[in-house]
Amino acid sequence: MEDKLKIYNTLSHKKELFEPLNPPHVGMYVCGPTVYGDAHLGHARPGITFDIVFRYLKHLGYKVRYVRNITDVGHLVNDADTGEDKIQKKARLEELEPMEIVKYYTDRYHENMRQLNTLPPSIEPTASGHIIEQIELVKKILKNGYAYESDGSLYFDVEKYNKDYRYGKLSGRRIEDLLHNTHELAGQEEKHNAFDFALWKKADPSHLMHWPSPWSEGYPGWHLECSAMGAKYLGETFDIHGGGMDLLFPHHESEIAQANAATGHDPVKYWMHNNMITINGQKMGKSLKNFITLEEFFTGKHKSLDQPYAPMTIRFFILQAHYRSTLDFSTEALKAAEKGLRKLFDALYLLDDVKPAATSSVNIKLIEEKCYQSMNDDFNTPMVIAHLFDLAHGINQAYAGKESLTQEDIAYTRKLFSSFLFDLLGLKDEKEKDDSQLIEYLMKTIIEIRQEAKNKKDYATADMIREELAKMDIQIKDTKEGAKWNFK
Ligand code: ZN
Repeated sequence: MEDKLKIYNTLSHKKELFEPLNPPHVGMYVCGPTVYGDAHLGHARPGITFDIVFRYLKHLGYKVRYVRNITDVGHLVNDADTGEDKIQKKARLEELEPMEIVKYYTDRYHENMRQLNTLPPSIEPTASGHIIEQIELVKKILKNGYAYESDGSLYFDVEKYNKDYRYGKLSGRRIEDLLHNTHELAGQEEKHNAFDFALWKKADPSHLMHWPSPWSEGYPGWHLECSAMGAKYLGETFDIHGGGMDLLFPHHESEIAQANAATGHDPVKYWMHNNMITINGQKMGKSLKNFITLEEFFTGKHKSLDQPYAPMTIRFFILQAHYRSTLDFSTEALKAAEKGLRKLFDALYLLDDVKPAATSSVNIKLIEEKCYQSMNDDFNTPMVIAHLFDLAHGINQAYAGKESLTQEDIAYTRKLFSSFLFDLLGLKDEKEKDDSQLIEYLMKTIIEIRQEAKNKKDYATADMIREELAKMDIQIKDTKEGAKWNFK
């Protein structure tokens, strides 16, 4: 078991040696999407970042339980507990049941994550599936004196909590500052302080999603689900909690407060946050209307895109920056990523044609060591990629006869390259089309050639094509919309 991994902990603001609470088991919780719209680049980044963490920890021999939730209720349009539920709003606009919205966008999210080659989490719990656990958690917080009821709704008493613990330990915010910075919003008059947050909200008559509770017919506050589900599947204290930097406050700060208020101790040992993706220096997000969905990237159908970009290009583009750095999007950067990844694959394939030499002039073991050092240094994927480019350079030079590799080192290079490129960085060569795509493409071409022959009244060729295909049980039918084919 590798024991040198260091993880930057947002809570302590420094890199710490990774020492799991209960080795070889590792519990990791990552905040998943609120499913009311298509996933965009901003969703791809945490998806890929924590996929790398998951893959690497497993590679090191840990038994990882990776929990990533689906928020399907309780996330309001405004983070200050006002406004409509995001999913309910979408359901109302589209005249659908909220659960139809949830199913539709959850399926699309899964498909996008599959295209990006992220491994599915071990457990994917939903907020609406854990209402009982959330109510139980509210009861504990209330019993310990850190919540108050106000007209059927329950709020977390931040001021009281801050006296006994410290609210703001993760984000570095102080409640004195929060008081000045929190704008008074409509619907806040039930709270003692504007920075108090909802644990349970009484549903007004128009609210579509509500459940019975000891206090009112209502629904849980957004921060509650992650505390309840994290504790249920990973225990009261677990190893890693991840998410985007935009969730650090108030979401994760409130999770810490809820856990301390309920159990008296911190819930998480290592807090990890991926940075944001910017477009021309501006944060990308739905509210800014500058986001491009993953589907739009994959199909090229968006006004700021000049071509489709394959999922692996997006993945490689994201991995070329360290997860804690901001990543600025541009089509030039994507094109460079596309080219760079191609270079790596080409070098790997070129390895087959390198003539073995009696001695090696490239130090493969040293490159391997550097790759591991980079991964151990808080998952420094851009450095790993730089080392893989060095390896690719070595292969190209060996092919050209300017460097040399022994038979043994060629095999070792292949193993090392594949292990990092495919297994740890999770990249794959999309040029290797699957058979069904290939057949579709070939049949389309054959039908075009046959049509061309018919246009020239060359019926002998057209018939010959049909007869030859028939031998493979492929049938061609001429219809008004053109020729169609199917297997007999
Ligand atoms: Zn969360």
